[in-house]
Amino acid sequence: MNTDSMDHNLSKYAELAVRVGVNLQKGQTLVVNAPIQAVELVRKIAKIAYEIGAKNVHVEWNDDDLTALKYKLAPDEAFTEYPMWRAQGMEQWSSTGEGAFLTILSPNPDLLKDIDPKRVATATKTASTALQKHRANSMSYRARWCLISVANEAWAAKVFPSLPLEEAVEQLWAFVFKATRVDLGDPIQAWNDHNDELHRKVNYLNAKQYRKLIYTAPGTNLTIGLPDKHVWLGGSKPAQDEVPFNPNMPTEEVFTMPHKDEIDGVVRSTKPLNYGGTVIDNFSLTFEKGRVTGMTAEQGEETLQHLLDTDEGARRLGEVALVPFHSPISDSNLIFFNTLFDENASNHLALGQAYPTNIEGGTGMSKEELAEHGVNTSLTHVDFMVGSAEMDIDGVTADGRNEPIFRNGNWAF
Ligand code: ZN
Ligand code: ZN
Repeated sequence: MNTDSMDHNLSKYAELAVRVGVNLQKGQTLVVNAPIQAVELVRKIAKIAYEIGAKNVHVEWNDDDLTALKYKLAPDEAFTEYPMWRAQGMEQWSSTGEGAFLTILSPNPDLLKDIDPKRVATATKTASTALQKHRANSMSYRARWCLISVANEAWAAKVFPSLPLEEAVEQLWAFVFKATRVDLGDPIQAWNDHNDELHRKVNYLNAKQYRKLIYTAPGTNLTIGLPDKHVWLGGSKPAQDEVPFNPNMPTEEVFTMPHKDEIDGVVRSTKPLNYGGTVIDNFSLTFEKGRVTGMTAEQGEETLQHLLDTDEGARRLGEVALVPFHSPISDSNLIFFNTLFDENASNHLALGQAYPTNIEGGTGMSKEELAEHGVNTSLTHVDFMVGSAEMDIDGVTADGRNEPIFRNGNWAF
């Protein structure tokens, strides 16, 4: 990519993130969370936001080197307190719908590999506890939000270890633009078509109201009960004010919530999971009545253990997502060590909090009502990949018939 086409693609990316991703409306404040290397993109985003009529663009910067330095040198108590003024500010913006939240990820999969996993677990739990209400607002679509990614050297080197660094970064950018359809002539129209396609899948599955899903693949034999009146979602969805947004770019998934007490069997991961700077790989989870009762991992076992120990809900599932094995990301045959990409190349599940929007009336339910309906609650929500070309999935209808949903990793209807 020459400098001109890079600049042109960045402009298209910024436009897409603001207009289709968060779908910023006049008078809103755009809250951007970004790594310092994304400064050019963030400036373009801010310009478009103000042109649309944003009241304010609030940017919070982060820097991997500062993060690593803190984990190495700060005293333990730095990880047990979270600035409440920040938590309250985020909460205010998300509960009133005044804010739209754009998060720019730029993963460094090995950033924290030499740090004590316990320190990282403490920091993660402290932040999720402080931001609990803000996250609940986001997960019930009270506010519009979107996640996108930008390339960086550490990430590029991990995805393309055999390429010279400069070329690896260029390849990764090209892939980010391809997966988000930025490389097409009219990305906004391409996203409208893509959303239509995902909505067709969603409508089919919602009409079926399967009672159970049965997963079979090498190392996987899992039954997942679905609650009454579960709702499949995919692509763009309306926020509480009915204005649609696309929470993830890229996105290839359609997803719903499992019944938190009705998961039995064993499931094996098929891609490494980058959990906040530590890689967990080749792991297996055994479920009984919805709860993880056994676990093995070839890499990152201690980190996985900390994740499961976050709270009771972290041992149960909150999301079941279907992604065909033949998707633009999957066909690249690359492993991205970035869940936003890897989850969109593979069937996946999530440990932890369910989206209340995945059940009829869920956003209005109390904590007790959610539990009664089989909705899992937790401080955490972590997607992990289980799909492969060998995976079959059946849906079990209300009258007990099995119907194919996936065969050999792809849609069967
Ligand atoms: Zn997902
Ligand atoms: Zn998820």
